[in-house]
Amino acid sequence: MSKILASPRHDQRTDNEIRQPYKCFCCADSGKVCHPLITEFVEFPESGDSLPYICKRYDCEVGEKFTKCWEASDAERNAYKETKARGSKGDGGDGIPQPMRQRDWQANFSMNLNSTACDWLHEQGLLQWRESLRSQKVNVFKKYTEAASDRTDTVNSIKSEMKAQNLTESAFEGALVHCIKRDGILYLHWESLPTATLKVLLGKMKVN
Ligand SMILES: [Zn+2]
Repeated sequence: MSKILASPRHDQRTDNEIRQPYKCFCCADSGKVCHPLITEFVEFPESGDSLPYICKRYDCEVGEKFTKCWEASDAERNAYKETKARGSKGDGGDGIPQPMRQRDWQANFSMNLNSTACDWLHEQGLLQWRESLRSQKVNVFKKYTEAASDRTDTVNSIKSEMKAQNLTESAFEGALVHCIKRDGILYLHWESLPTATLKVLLGKMKVN
């Protein structure tokens, strides 16, 4: 008769380690889509900035606020301003930065990513997070959502390292590919692209 294997006892985890980090994995509760798999739906240009996409998931509260801001007319904004203070949540505002005019919103955000895509991105993030709990690997999604400045620093440090060693641009590209695999971060995301030169390099990499 074969025996079953005893389950090893794991280190105890704190509540924080097993608590779901975001309600919405599509936008990490920011209202703007920041999922690394966004490139499944979006073809980013080789140069120039792209507008951030507003999260359109039905269940996403912050995304819904962004959507309302995007759609609100100037008259509605003025009426809203009369009834509610803006600014930080602690001050009684809703915590969302709101340029006053409709055209500001529409110039700064895009509504073009549909809810089906956002739902899919959310599901992928959720699955990845659950998997990270099981395997106890580094939560890639969490790393991705680190401050944009941290990611920029990483890219810049690789760049200067390459320069110091007198390496070519193709070596630099190789190093970035290595870092993308290592960190699970798509450095193509608009917030993480520090310079025009780097954008071109990364644009080339995306094709490969
Ligand atoms: Zn969302």
